[in-house]
Amino acid sequence: MASSFLDTKDYRHIWPPFTQVQTDSPPLLITEGKGAVLRDASDREYLDLISSWWVNLHGHAHPAIAQAIAMQALKLEQVIFAGCIHEPAFNLANCLASLLPGDLDRVFFSDNGSTAVEVALKVALQYHRNIGDTRRTHLLAFEGGYHGDTFGAMSAGKQSGFFDAFASKLFPVQFLPYPITWLSDSTVEEKEQDSLAQLDRYLAEHGQETAAIILEPLVQGAAGMRMVRPGFLQQVCKRVKEAGVLVIFDEVMTGFGRTGTMFALEQVGWIPDMICLAKGLTGGFLPLSVTVCREYLYEAFLDDGFDKALAHGHSYTANPLGCAAALASLRLFTEEDTFKQIEMIHQVHQAGLMSLENKNLPHLGRFRLCGTIAAFDIKVADAGYGASIGKIIRKKALEIGLLLRPLGNTVYLLPPYCLTAEVLQDTWKKISQMMQELDV
Ligand SMILES: *Cc1c(COP(=O)(O)O)cnc(C)c1O
Repeated sequence: MASSFLDTKDYRHIWPPFTQVQTDSPPLLITEGKGAVLRDASDREYLDLISSWWVNLHGHAHPAIAQAIAMQALKLEQVIFAGCIHEPAFNLANCLASLLPGDLDRVFFSDNGSTAVEVALKVALQYHRNIGDTRRTHLLAFEGGYHGDTFGAMSAGKQSGFFDAFASKLFPVQFLPYPITWLSDSTVEEKEQDSLAQLDRYLAEHGQETAAIILEPLVQGAAGMRMVRPGFLQQVCKRVKEAGVLVIFDEVMTGFGRTGTMFALEQVGWIPDMICLAKGLTGGFLPLSVTVCREYLYEAFLDDGFDKALAHGHSYTANPLGCAAALASLRLFTEEDTFKQIEMIHQVHQAGLMSLENKNLPHLGRFRLCGTIAAFDIKVADAGYGASIGKIIRKKALEIGLLLRPLGNTVYLLPPYCLTAEVLQDTWKKISQMMQELDV
């Protein structure tokens, strides 16, 4: 049945995301997933080196998570979350509050990373209004940052360059230069100082009018796995906080072990006012997200009238199946000693990157690493998301059983945590071979 679908290429009713269908290769028809491996309708296997758009943590179709969802579905599949709560949401909120530092204790549920960001922006703006500080309406973000595809998230991520078609409808956000940093980067101090100086100038002039800054800590994902040093971010947080500006960490991609710690904030050494979590939250099984707020923010929404309440909610807010999946995924971190795997991935990435860098291939550069994320750039004239080299590499990789999706001319690995050292070492060998044969 599945293969006849493939034969007719009958997917004409599907409009795929982030794809120029006219020039892109036809999609793979994936029928099964197990661990880090995906299988298509013609029984070919692919190693999922991008965790299926950065969501999968413990491997595909993990029985513990599948079972938790099935059990919950037989008990309570969904209920309105205004006026009712349920055990999975209650347990997940408690669990997240205990994992997160300080008084990051109040969990607002939504459906995906974009909505988690919308909620954070709304809370920031309404918080200042609720406490009577009506001047604070400006927002700050970093150049290149990506926060999702809804209008607020697009506004905060305008500089990612994806949203030019909507430019006239995006609200203004102030962007700071982002000091992208790679291994053995001699220009890093200068870039950081430049960015901080610009921040200081902005704050001196507009600090009192600014509601919040939103940033992806340690790694800008969609911008091309662009990394910064934790100390720089700590400086940014310190300065904006002194000016009364709220700090929002968008950990939609960096959360749940990606950067080597459960959350990137641990390495930054800063407790933000809000943190957005999505992608890995359910281990990659179901769409669910949270915006976790410090308790004082929540308290500013309490009042006798409705006017100060947060007027935001979704039909499926805190879906019990999603919460059950998230709880099962978080349990696996202890049961499967996931951080040992994460450390192993980091080590193998490091060896793979070093060995590639030592080959001194003139067309490669900017090798970088953060936790389980390894990346490097291919030097091409048409850099950026649309770079043709990305498509060429994706195709070559598929031929040798690797699922990659370069961000333009940036090649990166962001694998599920379940793969073995042998498989990852072998992958680096294959990638190294591919890069040596590359004709650019
Ligand atoms: C993917 C992503 C989002 C958007 O999440 P969706 O679930 O795709 O809406 C927001 N912020 C960051 C940092 C992301 O990587």
